[in-house]
Amino acid sequence: MRTPARVVITTHQGPDGDAIGSMLALYWFLTKAGYEVFPVVPSDYPAFLHWMPGNEHILNYIRHKERVLSVVESADWLFYLDFNHLNRTAGLNQVLAASKARKVLIDHHLAPDIEVEYEFSDPLASSTACLLFYMMLAWEPSLTDATIATCAYTGLMTDTGCFSYNIRGPETFDMVSRLMQYGIDRDGVYRKVYDNFSESRMRLLGYCLNETMEVFPKYATALISLSLEDQKKYSFVVGDSESFVNYPLSIAGVNFSAFFQEKEDRVKISFRSRGAFSANDFARAHFDGGGHRNASGGESRLSLKEAMQQFRDLLHLYEYELNK
Ligand code: 5GP
Ligand code: MN
Repeated sequence: MRTPARVVITTHQGPDGDAIGSMLALYWFLTKAGYEVFPVVPSDYPAFLHWMPGNEHILNYIRHKERVLSVVESADWLFYLDFNHLNRTAGLNQVLAASKARKVLIDHHLAPDIEVEYEFSDPLASSTACLLFYMMLAWEPSLTDATIATCAYTGLMTDTGCFSYNIRGPETFDMVSRLMQYGIDRDGVYRKVYDNFSESRMRLLGYCLNETMEVFPKYATALISLSLEDQKKYSFVVGDSESFVNYPLSIAGVNFSAFFQEKEDRVKISFRSRGAFSANDFARAHFDGGGHRNASGGESRLSLKEAMQQFRDLLHLYEYELNK
């Protein structure tokens, strides 16, 4: 192995705050430890994550294909963060599978199914950032600093919906307390992530809630949708619909929410649930997806209209579970 060893860190397509936050936290940690590190993403990610320290080092497979192929090809180590199946890495899938590097998985999704030499998977962890933070402390406590803490905090904050879900034990708040000791700007991170939208995104949210939301009280369920036509009308950019799926869960009596977004070649669906109803089982069974019990995703090759109708038609099968 060359010195310094080359490390590629990658994550799932459509990376979210936990994916980018964890990737950059590990990027800074391993760089400080003396490795040559390349963070790689399969696709674009929302502008409200571009402020993060180290963002300029991220190689996007869509934009820097040759460079990504070359760093993966020559990597000694490959770190997979925040996903449980290689098909979550879209076009990078084959490239990663063919790599001879030693592979490490750090993840918190259910049922990991990836060939790696080292697997750190804990579906009870609130976020990959949380799992990674404690691993970094165990590896070398002296390396963590304010930059790493800021990245890790962003992952933790976004994957728990600002500490409102995915929290099973005290370690989440223990982690916040430790991160604050590094002097992170907690309010600043919040503002940069959540108060950073365009006017058209706010209007799009209003439109979706007002015009497309359907509520099914009998099934404690609601859906919202977004067509390609409406995306054009509201100058949609990646990240604009992030968290739309959560809004219907604020309606009293709604335990299950789905958000259907029409894409050029498919319909992407996000599912969120409260309590015992497993969005993960539902997504796996009907929409070729998965994720966590209360937050999952999937997709459909039907038209937007047909996919939504399939969803409506399925609800009666779950009437009992949805109302538990
Ligand atoms: P989101 O709705 O925010 O896109 O995703 C919610 C959760 O479900 C995330 O943890 C994500 O990794 C997972 N997820 C989203 N889409 C898919 C998918 O198509 N397949 C699988 N297996 N998981 C997904
Ligand atoms: Mn995550």
